[in-house]
Amino acid sequence: MALQPEAEHPKKAFGWAARDSSGVLSPFKFSRRETGEKDVTFKVLYCGICHSDLHMLKNEWGSSIYPIVPGHEIAGEVTEVGSKVKKFKVGDKVGVGCLVGSCDSCQSCSDDLENYCSKMILTYSAKNVDGTVTYGGYSDTMVADEHFVILIPDGLPLDVAAPLLCAGITVYSPLKYFGLDKPGLNLGVVGLGGLGHMAVKFAKAFGANVTVISTSPNKKKEAIEHLGADSFVVSREQDQMQAVMGSFDGIIDTVSAMHPLLPLIGLLKNHGKLVMVGAPEKPLELPVFPLIGGRKIIGGSCIGGLKETQEMIDFAAKHDVKPDIEVVPVDYINTAMERLLKGDVKYRFVIDIGNTLKPSS
Ligand SMILES: [Zn+2]
Ligand SMILES: [Zn+2]
Repeated sequence: MALQPEAEHPKKAFGWAARDSSGVLSPFKFSRRETGEKDVTFKVLYCGICHSDLHMLKNEWGSSIYPIVPGHEIAGEVTEVGSKVKKFKVGDKVGVGCLVGSCDSCQSCSDDLENYCSKMILTYSAKNVDGTVTYGGYSDTMVADEHFVILIPDGLPLDVAAPLLCAGITVYSPLKYFGLDKPGLNLGVVGLGGLGHMAVKFAKAFGANVTVISTSPNKKKEAIEHLGADSFVVSREQDQMQAVMGSFDGIIDTVSAMHPLLPLIGLLKNHGKLVMVGAPEKPLELPVFPLIGGRKIIGGSCIGGLKETQEMIDFAAKHDVKPDIEVVPVDYINTAMERLLKGDVKYRFVIDIGNTLKPSS
């Protein structure tokens, strides 16, 4: 029989976990491995709440392993490094995003695209190479191979850095890969949540002209005055959509609810690219004629590799690209999940682990 989470490894750890698909989080004792020779161990100070945490807590993707300690936007301070660690030292500010392992031998791994490795190991609720389950950042400590640890640059506060490790790289990577990082391009961002607001900020930092495309007219003021978008289109208003038909070089679609693709394809210029980073549960209808007629592309993208994640966070520090966050204490996380479900957050909850996670006796 498998050992209890508390006894699997030598180091005591403490966090908040969901025990079943109710998704309700409560205090949880478990264990972490000793710092291996290539490992970095760090004290978790902040952890972002990603929308995928919500899906995983409720087993909505069918892959959850309970108990789950979620969290893959983890930032903290190094407390111990293994003897063969080259990039980090005690006291460094570091982070871990969505991955803690990959095969290190496939094409994706050798191309610095560990995020597309078929054997990648997710930061939580996945099986590690030793057969134990991975636990995420809603916890006091974290240990990971240095390859999967990101150095957080000076000048980037850790609470702000945390959401960059998933939300940030998820939009930065496709902007780069699909050539949408050139100044002067006309870009659309569909959906204004955790991912969408980061897409606006990175696209602006690359020098694009950015339009937010949203179902909610009441987000217009916020998008333009606060996030720095250049314009705003209400997708339910035919005349507004008509006015920008055929005008975008690229669109980043962050919406994970079911929605029609045809109107978005219509907004693209010829040879334009529609990139999906949200993940609707069911297949969307794909209208092929308008793709062929304008040599348009629909693509997808999933987080980013470690090299690019480091590049992204360095870019964010240099260009002052910062997520808008609401910092919450750990005993607020169940309420935060309910609010996240309703879209009631601007734009990312970040748990103040360092100051509010207290081990129960
Ligand atoms: Zn995430
Ligand atoms: Zn691989």
